[in-house]
Amino acid sequence: MTFLEAYAKKQLLKGSINNLIDSMQVVGRKLLDVILPPKCLNCGGRVDRAHNICPECWKELHFLSDPMCTCCGYPFGADLGVNYTVIGDSLCGTCQNMNRAFDLSLSALRYDDNSRRMIIGFKHQDRLEYATYFAKLLKRAGSRFFADSDMIVPVPLHKKRLIKRRYNQSALLSRILAHDIGVAHEPELLIRTKNTPPQDGNLNKRSKNVRGAFKVTRTNREKVKNRTILLIDDVYTTGATVENCAIALKRAGAAKVYVLTIFRVIRPQSPI
Ligand SMILES: [Zn+2]
Ligand SMILES: [Zn+2]
Repeated sequence: MTFLEAYAKKQLLKGSINNLIDSMQVVGRKLLDVILPPKCLNCGGRVDRAHNICPECWKELHFLSDPMCTCCGYPFGADLGVNYTVIGDSLCGTCQNMNRAFDLSLSALRYDDNSRRMIIGFKHQDRLEYATYFAKLLKRAGSRFFADSDMIVPVPLHKKRLIKRRYNQSALLSRILAHDIGVAHEPELLIRTKNTPPQDGNLNKRSKNVRGAFKVTRTNREKVKNRTILLIDDVYTTGATVENCAIALKRAGAAKVYVLTIFRVIRPQSPI
């Protein structure tokens, strides 16, 4: 038998083994579906695939799309009872009046009564099964960032909060996303130096609480220099958290900071 024949035979055997493993995995999954039928993450109804939501719940979600602010991603098309006339560079009222440290922020869904239950479950009730679904939403919403991003960084929790909560929900998402799209994951790059109280609705208070709350550790500065960072968080509320993370990253030398979140709180702004 020539070397080539031996090699072909080996590859054929390897292929058969891989096919066998794949088939066993499919059978295993089907068996698991019979024993434990997959449920809608939101309402608990039957779904065909695990880590998903049912068509009824999906209909209630508000996916965000263009036209939107070309900096913070504020959707001009949202039904807020205000008619916007988008002019010039398509910046929203807030972004026209401040220099954002991040370059562009996008979110998958509007935060509302329907989505609130999902995010509370994920964040505070150990419903970690949401992570796979949310990562899928991030992948869809942030596709324009991926080719350009050098690394994916989650918004960090303070270590005291992390001990109490046991997991950082943003890091769970960023890990799955980074693995899925093949971009480096750097969960330790940014740290939270201030243990800020749980956020309430007061905009000024939120902004003050997170001011200077993040930094890039000295050992990680070289990694950040001239790089494009994709920052991941669960909810964009006022933008204060991601803004302060972006300030820390830019101070450390980052060239660009993109922000990607699952949910976005949308409040009416003054018409432009
Ligand atoms: Zn459902
Ligand atoms: Zn904006």
